[in-house]
Amino acid sequence: MIKIAIDGPSGAGKSTVAKALAARMGIVYVDTGALYRTVGYAAVTAGISTKDAAALEALLPSIEVDVRYENGVQCVYLNGENLGDKIRRPEISMAASDVSAVPAVRAFLLDTQRDIARRNSVVMDGRDIGTVILPDADVKIFMVASAEARAERRTRELAEKGMPANYEDVLREMKERDAQDSGRAIAPAIPAPDAVHLDNSGMTVEESVAAVIDIIEKKTGGKPI
Ligand code: C5P
Repeated sequence: MIKIAIDGPSGAGKSTVAKALAARMGIVYVDTGALYRTVGYAAVTAGISTKDAAALEALLPSIEVDVRYENGVQCVYLNGENLGDKIRRPEISMAASDVSAVPAVRAFLLDTQRDIARRNSVVMDGRDIGTVILPDADVKIFMVASAEARAERRTRELAEKGMPANYEDVLREMKERDAQDSGRAIAPAIPAPDAVHLDNSGMTVEESVAAVIDIIEKKTGGKPI
């Protein structure tokens, strides 16, 4: 069993790299952001303010968030409904960031994440995987890129998903969300002391994957992946 934690700000390419890596290594890819997005989506559809900690805490007992793997793809279910790309909408990104600052929400999603890692070899991406969820991960990577490179990638990704967005809006929202995620009191998006930093601003996806593989091979004693 191997546990690989990839943390970092939004749009740093964590999910693209982690997915490619999981496929290559034959292990499970876990997108933990999807869980916070699901709670954010639940709050928005229930008409609850995503900044109202007490109301969010009261909502939690009525929701069930379930992760399933269908044809190797992670699907997140909210009360039995597969939400698909509904959780990818830009307003849900900010809602996810809001609800993720609430301790009860983080506690609510903790076991789901740890259970998957207990049962499988994983590459898990998020903000607090190396610091909180899997502090004993075999390899911890903190992946960053310039805000401009990240906003460009995110704009392209949204267009590909049929949700075209303006680059300047994406850049502004991304900076706002990152400041909120890294400045919060609980589980801030900061590197674990033993994380290896990777800035992939000028790298292609293939180069980022190669850089991550190099880090893993060095950490795990040089066995080729
Ligand atoms: O990774 P993604 O952009 O989908 O995450 C959405 C939001 O969920 C982040 O902005 C962050 O606030 C929150 N999140 C978190 N901890 C994680 C993963 C995501 O707080 N492990």
